[in-house]
Amino acid sequence: MVEWFASVFGPGALAELASSVAAPWREELVAERPALGIIPAGWYDERLASALADAVVGAASRAMSEADALRAIGAVTVDRSLGRVSRAALEWFASPETAAISAQMFWRFYHSTGSISASVAGASMHAVGIWGVHGRRWCAIVGASSVRVLELTGCTDVRLERHTCGGGERSCEMTLRWTPR
Ligand SMILES: [Zn+2]
Repeated sequence: MVEWFASVFGPGALAELASSVAAPWREELVAERPALGIIPAGWYDERLASALADAVVGAASRAMSEADALRAIGAVTVDRSLGRVSRAALEWFASPETAAISAQMFWRFYHSTGSISASVAGASMHAVGIWGVHGRRWCAIVGASSVRVLELTGCTDVRLERHTCGGGERSCEMTLRWTPR
């Protein structure tokens, strides 16, 4: 999401964004490094990711709708990680059902805590996850990434119909729906 922000808004806006992140998370960032020193394959505290998600989506929302920003971030996040998971991804993207079955395995590529389970019924997927303390916008990026995964399985007109975030204290739930083929 940081790389996406830099590519759309430029390095100046990224440096400004870094200074807007609350301490102590600001200290984890290196303003002069690409993507603020955040390594795509690294593990990060969910609270750091949440602070960055707030800053990125908040700043982007001044230039576009929050929904458009989330959709773009979800697409970049999933597409960029395909190299990392390429072999398994072939199977993952075979259908919404295989994506649902593999949800926990792929959760681990992105998060060091928590678990998720997903099930498909007709042209909808329901997912329930419980993970570390996190912010609403970081959770929304997880939802937007799920939209992208379903698009890559061949689903069209995918939308996040319902999303409730428990912030880490309770489970988070989402229902995604698409147009049946
Ligand atoms: Zn949540």
